Amino acid sequence: MLLRCTQTVIVPLAMLLLVVACKNKASKNPEGGKKTNIVASLDSASLIQDLAYLSSEALGGRETGSAGNALAQDYITKRLDSLQLKQTDSGRFQSFSVGNKPPAITGKNIMGIIPGTTYPDRYYVISAHYDHLGTKGDKIYYGADDNASGSACLLALARYFKQNPPKHSFILAFFDAEEKGLIGSRYFVKHLPVDSTKLLLNVNMDMVSRNDKNEIYASGAYHYPFLVKYVDSIKSLTPVNISFGHDNPKEGHNDWTNQSDHYPFHLAQIPYLYFGVEDHPDYHQPTDTFDKVDKGFYFRVCNMIKETITILDRQEKLQ
Ligand SMILES: [Zn+2]
Repeated sequence: MLLRCTQTVIVPLAMLLLVVACKNKASKNPEGGKKTNIVASLDSASLIQDLAYLSSEALGGRETGSAGNALAQDYITKRLDSLQLKQTDSGRFQSFSVGNKPPAITGKNIMGIIPGTTYPDRYYVISAHYDHLGTKGDKIYYGADDNASGSACLLALARYFKQNPPKHSFILAFFDAEEKGLIGSRYFVKHLPVDSTKLLLNVNMDMVSRNDKNEIYASGAYHYPFLVKYVDSIKSLTPVNISFGHDNPKEGHNDWTNQSDHYPFHLAQIPYLYFGVEDHPDYHQPTDTFDKVDKGFYFRVCNMIKETITILDRQEKLQ
């Protein structure tokens, strides 16, 4: 996530202890909380393992152009290759330059395609950015929530939809250089791997792994009201609280329309649905670490997103 305004939140010690206790409970039972009708089909062990690796010290905060970012690329690429996800006509990657000052920095989007069984010529793009802020001085900005969480969720969705092929074709896009100004997603939309008329929707995930209120936003319906009924149909099936909002210009800096990779799609008049949590005190701080992730919440969110995408995929026409 690019631009959110941060706030200092003072949490009483007693509340902190309670949160820690709840997290521990949730991590033991990823399906905890109220009863859900969504089949938790994602592999929770590899979801958490992927998140742990992507937010580890070895990757140094994954800044675009860094050695740690290259390790993240390798990890994602190997997974897409091992799942035998189809490449685009231009290959597995899109490379682009970042900034115009030396040293020259190259960003790299990573893509895989799952062909649709019923509407192979109609595409949904499911996306998450894998870069983060890197290391400044001796401080690593781990970016566990922002956005190792969305990337690991996208890897889990890649496996799931490879095993359960969708009706529409899916392009899974791991964007680079989001934190530098949505550069990877802007490049992608300017150089789409398929004709723009075939691209029906972007589902974007950025910061999906923790929220003290068990809440996540499904944002974008202000611009694309037809999305409301599909998201509404999920609300009673998931233990996660889904809220609409953060997409109305009247909300000022709380309008997230231009704050993550869905924005270039929106500018190109391609509808988007963005999933993300509200700010937390560790947003864009070195303290956005793996241990702060609420494993139970995170697992439930990824399954909810999988189910939302499945419902959207079933529609003959998105309207
Ligand atoms: Zn960010």
